[in-house]
Amino acid sequence: MIIDLEDVESPALAAHYDVCIAGAGVAGIVIAKALAEKGRKVLLLEAGGKYFTDRSQDIYRGNVVGHEYFDLDVSRLRFLGGSSNHWGGWCRPLDAHDFEKHAHIDGSGWPIDIGDVAPYHAAATETVSIEPLPDDQDVAGSGGDLKEVFFRTSQVWFKDKYGELLANSENIDLLLRANLLDISLDPLTGRVAGFQYCGYHPDDEMLEVRADAYVLAMGGIENPRALLNANSQRPQGVGNENDLVGRYFMEHPHFDIGYYLVDQKRAGLGRERRFLAPTRQLITEAKIANCGIRLEEADAQTREMLLKETRSDLTAAVCASNAAVDWVKSVNPGFRCPSPMERPERVLKKLPFDGAGLLRSASEQVPCPTSRVSLGDETDQFGRRRAALHWQLSPLDKDTIRTSGLAVGRYFAEQNIGRVRLFDWVLDEQAGFPGFEDGEELAGNHHMGTTRMGSSAADSVVNGDCRVHSVDNLYVAGSSVFRTAGHTNPTFTIVQLALRLADHLAGLV
Ligand SMILES: Cc1cc2nc3c(=O)[nH]c(=O)nc-3n(C[C@H](O)[C@H](O)[C@H](O)COP(=O)(O)OP(=O)(O)OC[C@H]3O[C@@H](n4cnc5c(N)ncnc54)[C@H](O)[C@@H]3O)c2cc1C
Repeated sequence: MIIDLEDVESPALAAHYDVCIAGAGVAGIVIAKALAEKGRKVLLLEAGGKYFTDRSQDIYRGNVVGHEYFDLDVSRLRFLGGSSNHWGGWCRPLDAHDFEKHAHIDGSGWPIDIGDVAPYHAAATETVSIEPLPDDQDVAGSGGDLKEVFFRTSQVWFKDKYGELLANSENIDLLLRANLLDISLDPLTGRVAGFQYCGYHPDDEMLEVRADAYVLAMGGIENPRALLNANSQRPQGVGNENDLVGRYFMEHPHFDIGYYLVDQKRAGLGRERRFLAPTRQLITEAKIANCGIRLEEADAQTREMLLKETRSDLTAAVCASNAAVDWVKSVNPGFRCPSPMERPERVLKKLPFDGAGLLRSASEQVPCPTSRVSLGDETDQFGRRRAALHWQLSPLDKDTIRTSGLAVGRYFAEQNIGRVRLFDWVLDEQAGFPGFEDGEELAGNHHMGTTRMGSSAADSVVNGDCRVHSVDNLYVAGSSVFRTAGHTNPTFTIVQLALRLADHLAGLV
């Protein structure tokens, strides 16, 4: 059943539900569906209606006070189906080593491992309607440093695929235009006693729903914002005893990092794009995080331009940094940089390259406590403080991109498959990251880490079951629970974790 708070003053709801979920985006819909199929009674509170409205979207406005970032009301959508209404659909699971502890990455090491989410892989594939994902392939000739990884693209908008099911399920009540505004706690047990919500009209009353278990599924910025704003009984916010809610905000920084010229056939190109990533071996040895490097074939016209105009630049590209020169000398002691006097045509004749394109990175950002979502001073129409995002990247994040880019360049040059020209800012160890003004894409609209998972309340907000450490019956769904981010788009893992959480809840209620 779907009820729109716009149409009714007081909705005819059950007195009690097994589970109440705030947020009917990807995670909320997946959990509701899975619980309903197991016969559990679910109430879904969704702040938006069936379509975009300025009034709902306005609540997502906030401040960006750190590293340049997208406006917060542009980077997500606040209506049924959530941000899946404009996602790109790129899907791939995290790597097994993304869950593991890496000695050189502070705060890494989930309390669960790949074996905990793998049983939900097939169901996640069905949920987003993609073909089975191919296994990663080691890249022969890369010295064990690189592997090829594969994505599938989902065409699913969750509102469209699951709207009818939500309307017809006997076990799901979906309340539209119902804004979760507060979390009431039982003063004796500290458990959640009810979720408080309200419609948009100024004279709408605050209503409360009761359930055995409660789930926040409002996205990686709203989940911490709701916990921090729920300060009527806990001045520091719910679940925030150790000042961790909102901290460790992570994104996948996206950058154009250089150009390549290749022998298309030997590079496995001649198709639109190819993805390479550092192996666990390179990550451990070079002490970096994970990174996806996308080889994006230029269109015919750009390719011609690159082949003609940047050939000499690319031929000399191995001289672009001391690191590259040292490396080339180590594998080819006779190597010398083409001198400015050397006629480029002679050098180029030796390099029969026919493919060219852009090298792009989508990399893992390592956990950083000062990269955070907090509450700003401005309030929304409900008097709740808006989100303030202080996104902060660290030197290790830059190192990850540089090292991974160089590994691709090394592999191409060593196998004489091609040449890579990394941009100067990538090679410059002192330089930071470029911003929007330089025409960069910056990030993936992936909001992760702000209610991070861990085995101890001292360094995390939720436990391995996605339950808030300090509140027995309050759970969090979505990428805010990610402890580390990998380089892969998050939604496939969000779906796996949501299915796992539904199983856990079904065992309790
Ligand atoms: C432009 C863009 C492209 C993307 N491309 C990809 C991609 O290719 N691959 C990928 O994996 N990911 C991609 N993403 C990210 C993906 O959309 C998110 O990971 C995913 O939607 C998160 O799911 P969620 O359920 O946690 O949050 P959402 O889908 O955002 O759902 C949150 C829900 O909570 C509701 N809500 C918010 N506040 C309240 C409240 N107070 N009370 C009640 N309800 C509330 C919202 O209306 C919304 O329906 C992209 C995102 C964007 C913006």
